[in-house]
Amino acid sequence: MNPPSEATSAPSRVAVLAGGVGGSRFVRGVRAAFPTARLDVIVNTADDVTLHGLRICPDIDTMLYALGDGIDPAKGWGRADETWSIMDELKTYGVEPTWFALGDRDIATHLVRTQLIAAGATPTEITTALATRWIADPALHVLPMTDDRVETHVVIADDREPSGRRAVHFQEFWVRLHAEPEVLDVVQVGLDTARATAAVTEALTAADLVLIAPSNPVVSIGPILGVGGVRPALRATNARVIGFSGILGGAPVLGMAHRLLPAIGVEVAAGAVGLHYGPRNRPGGILDAWVMDTADAGAVESVRAAGLSALAVPLLMSSPEDTAGFIRAGVEFVA
Ligand code: GDP
Ligand code: CA
Repeated sequence: MNPPSEATSAPSRVAVLAGGVGGSRFVRGVRAAFPTARLDVIVNTADDVTLHGLRICPDIDTMLYALGDGIDPAKGWGRADETWSIMDELKTYGVEPTWFALGDRDIATHLVRTQLIAAGATPTEITTALATRWIADPALHVLPMTDDRVETHVVIADDREPSGRRAVHFQEFWVRLHAEPEVLDVVQVGLDTARATAAVTEALTAADLVLIAPSNPVVSIGPILGVGGVRPALRATNARVIGFSGILGGAPVLGMAHRLLPAIGVEVAAGAVGLHYGPRNRPGGILDAWVMDTADAGAVESVRAAGLSALAVPLLMSSPEDTAGFIRAGVEFVA
C-alpha cells in the first residue's frame, strides 16, 4: 500500500501547458510520474506556419511524434528514420523556402492536416484525428491552445530598412536566421482576439494539478497564457499550479529563450522567469510554486521574498524517470 502522503498527493486529473521539444520531454515525465491520471496537454500553436501550401503545427507535431515514439530521438523533433526526397525535388524546381526542413514522412502529417482544414475541421478536431494514430493512451489528450489563428512575429534590427527594423515570422527568425539578429520586440499576431477552446478551459478548471512545462517562456508558454480565458481559468482553478524553469544557471538548455527574454523585459534567469509568471495571490499571477534547478538554488530566497513559493531540485530531463522525479518533488513541496 502507498504511504498516506503519496496517496493524498497523487492527482487524478492533470493539465500541462507546453511547447514542442522541451514540452514533450516534460509530458513524458508527467506520464511516468502519474501513470493513471487523466492528462490534458495544452500546446502552443503560435509557431504554426503555412509553407508550400501545407499547414504546419511544429509544437503539436513534436508532441504527437514524441508521445507516439515516432520522434527523431537525436534532434528531439521531426520523424524518426526520415527521408528528404520531396525537399530535394522542390530545391531542383528552385521553389522557396528551402530553409525549413520538411521530411517526407513529416509531410504526410501536413497533407492530412491541410486536407482536414479544407474540409472545415477545427485545429482541435484535427489534432484529435492525428492523435488517434500516435496516442494509444485513452486518458491522454493533446489540445491546441486555441482554434483561432495566432502567429508569433519577431521584430529584428535591420539597417537596410528605413525604420531600422523588420518583423519576421518566428520560424524565419529561428530556423533561417538562427536567432542571430538583435531582437527589438516579440509580437503575437491575433492573440488579442484568440479564445481558449471549451476543452482547454474545462481542462484547467477540472484539473487537480496544473503544471507549466519548462518550455520557452516567450514563444511557447507566453502565447498560451495570452489566449483569452486561459489566465482567468488558471487564477480561478482549485488545482495547484506549479511551474518549472527551462532556464538553468542563467541559460536555456536548448533553444533561443535567452535571445527573446530581454525583448520582453525579463532577465535571463530562473528566478526572473518565475516572477514574470508571478504568484497567484498577486494581480495576473498564475503560480502556487516555482521550481528551479539546483544551479539556481541561490535565487530561492529572493523569489520567496518576492512572494512566490520556490524550491531548487535537479531539472535536467535526461529520461522520463528523471523528469518524473523532479515533478513529484514539486508536487510534494506544495502538498
Ligand atoms: P520548442 O517549442 O521546441 O522550442 O520547445 P519548448 O518551448 O517546449 O522547450 C524549449 C525550452 O525547454 C528551452 O527554453 C529549454 O531551456 C527547455 N529545456 C530543454 N531541455 C530541458 C531540460 O532538460 N530541463 C529543463 N528544465 N528545461 C529544458
Ligand atoms: Ca515551439
